[in-house]
Amino acid sequence: MPNSIVDSHAHLGWDSFQEDREEVINRAFESGISQIVQAGVDHASLPESLKIADDFPNIFNGVGLHPHEAKHWNADSADIVRDAFRHKSVVAIGECGLDFYYNHSERDVQLQVFREQVRLCLELDKPLIIHTRDAWDDTFEILKQEGKGELRGVFHCFTGGPAQIPAIKELDFFVSFSGILTFKSAKDIQAAAPLVAADRVLVETDAPYLAPEGKRGKRNEPSYIWITAEKLAALRGCSKDDIAAQTSENARALFSLPAPL
Ligand SMILES: [Zn+2]
Ligand SMILES: [Zn+2]
Repeated sequence: MPNSIVDSHAHLGWDSFQEDREEVINRAFESGISQIVQAGVDHASLPESLKIADDFPNIFNGVGLHPHEAKHWNADSADIVRDAFRHKSVVAIGECGLDFYYNHSERDVQLQVFREQVRLCLELDKPLIIHTRDAWDDTFEILKQEGKGELRGVFHCFTGGPAQIPAIKELDFFVSFSGILTFKSAKDIQAAAPLVAADRVLVETDAPYLAPEGKRGKRNEPSYIWITAEKLAALRGCSKDDIAAQTSENARALFSLPAPL
């Protein structure tokens, strides 16, 4: 389907969209977005995320605890994740992982809670949405140890470079590029963009964060994904339509999404 694209990672339930959420979502679909996957960050925001998916059947959800929120993992958390999959919009676990840049949760806690969520992916046979920052070695180690080669998932908002691509290929994981790809300073990320296999590349906004070049400093929204898609196309030496088709097919494969309605 030409001129149709999947935003593989956004947060539409957040307060920054409180005033005009419906308009933002409608603008996304009008711009040619076919489906959106929202990432989960904590338990508290889950009901709102599920409600959005009830209202918009082309919106899907991940469920999990962001590394910033890892300290809130408790005895009920695994069941909250398991139960969430009763809702038909829930297609993945995450975003979860390690963030040793901000360290909003203790490192030991982050490591443990990431392990728990990786184990849940295997138990439930669901894909993983990984958030990792300044923690590549620990992230790869946990994925190898716990994943046993059976995991599938995506490194969302890829902020690494060519150095990380071999390990990601070994894991056979997907790589998702956000608006950061369009920043002039993002040389390492740009150098990695052509190295990802065609059947493993994704694109995302991470809205409301990380607005691409030309919109920087503003609230990001899914319709801006085309700016990132265009940059990705230039870096990979193909057309924007090719990128849209390829990344959409990949997102549907990873998240087992139905055909868009
Ligand atoms: Zn993230
Ligand atoms: Zn996110």
